[in-house]
Amino acid sequence: MINLVLFGPPGSGKGTQANKLVEKFNLIHISTGDLFRYEMGNDTPLGREAKSYISKGELVPDEVTIGMLRNKVEAHPDARGFIFDGFPRTIRQAEALDALLAGSSTSVSALVALQVDDEEIVQRIKLRGATSGRPDDSDESIIRNRIDVYKSETTPVFDYYAQSGKSHSVNGVGSIGEIFQRLSDIVGQL
Ligand code: AMP
Repeated sequence: MINLVLFGPPGSGKGTQANKLVEKFNLIHISTGDLFRYEMGNDTPLGREAKSYISKGELVPDEVTIGMLRNKVEAHPDARGFIFDGFPRTIRQAEALDALLAGSSTSVSALVALQVDDEEIVQRIKLRGATSGRPDDSDESIIRNRIDVYKSETTPVFDYYAQSGKSHSVNGVGSIGEIFQRLSDIVGQL
């Protein structure tokens, strides 16, 4: 089984690349951001709770996020592997993911981080905001808060998996095809 954590700041291209990687490597794509947007779109209790955090660029609390992720993983008992996109975003989420996968006698194969600098990210997200309809993509102070939260709460997850030699970085600037090649080179060796 290949269990890939696709990592990087908001707007670094994780969703775009995950869509290409799932096809090539026959994996299940789980994006917690997409799952929250689905719940918000259906105005469910989970969606309403998530919205209060997402609209400010804060993280949704771990217990909510972990429970949702677990349900999604357990819905695919026959998966050949997963791409986790936007999860884990805290050490607690990483520990929960490890425990969940260990329960199926598997583990995280690798974490790959897309590296993109802050100003490029702000520009990309603003551009996306013009068509995505995402309120958290349209306001620069919310975008900058998301970047700050990434640095303070999420980057420790890179170090967490680096301890077991699983963390990799690739340059996240270039054409979609170039970046896909960089990622494929790593995933192909797992
Ligand atoms: P994304 O589409 O991955 O950028 O996620 C959009 C928003 O959903 C984030 O800014 C968070 O508010 C929330 N979110 C997504 N994934 C997580 C997660 N793993 N933990 C906490 N909040 C999350």
